[in-house]
Amino acid sequence: MTATELAFDPATAVLDTVVEAGDGFLGTIPAGGTFRIVDLHGNQAVDTLFYDAADVDNRYSAFDTVREQGAVYLTTGSRLLSVRLDVLATITDDTCGRHDTLGGACAQESNVVRYGEHTRHQHACRETFLRHGAAAGIDAQRLGHNINFFMNVPVTADGGLTFADGVSAPGKHVQVRAERDLLVLISNCPQVNNPCNGWDPTPVRLLGWWSP
Ligand SMILES: [Zn+2]
Repeated sequence: MTATELAFDPATAVLDTVVEAGDGFLGTIPAGGTFRIVDLHGNQAVDTLFYDAADVDNRYSAFDTVREQGAVYLTTGSRLLSVRLDVLATITDDTCGRHDTLGGACAQESNVVRYGEHTRHQHACRETFLRHGAAAGIDAQRLGHNINFFMNVPVTADGGLTFADGVSAPGKHVQVRAERDLLVLISNCPQVNNPCNGWDPTPVRLLGWWSP
C-alpha cells in the first residue's frame, strides 16, 4: 500500500455512495476534507461543480482556473478557483492523469444542435444539475462552466476541441482536498451520442474522509 492508500482507506470513509449512470449528487465537504470519485467501469464523464458552502455565488470558475494554472487540463496539483479567485479545492491525487474543464455539460438544447431533433427528449447533465442543485439554492444562473472528471476533450493542433475516447479505465480515481467548506454538485453524465462515456454510461463511487 502507498501512503495515500493507507491514509484514505475506503473502510474508514465517512461518505461512501454510488451514483448510478444518469443520476446526480449534492453533498457537503468540510474544509480540510478529502473527496474521491472512482470511475468504477472506466471512461465515465462525471460533470462536477464546486461551490463555497457559505455563498453559492462564489462558485467554481473554469476560466480563472485555466488561466491561473496556465494549462487547459486538470490533474494533481491543480487548484480549482472560484469566480472570486478563492481556492475552493486542490486535486491531491489522480490515477487517471487528466480531466477536462473546457467541454461543458450536455443539455437538451446542445444535444439537438449537435445530434439532431430526435435527441431532444434525452436526459442531460444540465437537468440533473438543476434537479439536485435546487435544495441548495443553485438555479440556472448559478450553473457555471463545469469540470468533466475522467473526460477526454483534447485540444487539437489548430486549436479545436474534440470529444475523444476516454483516457480513464475501471478503478481510476481523482481526489480533491476542500480548501473551505464546499458544496459538490455532480451529474453522472447520461450522454450516449458521443464517446465521452464510451457509448455506455456507468456508475461511479464517491468516497469522503473528514471528521464527522
Ligand atoms: Zn452530460
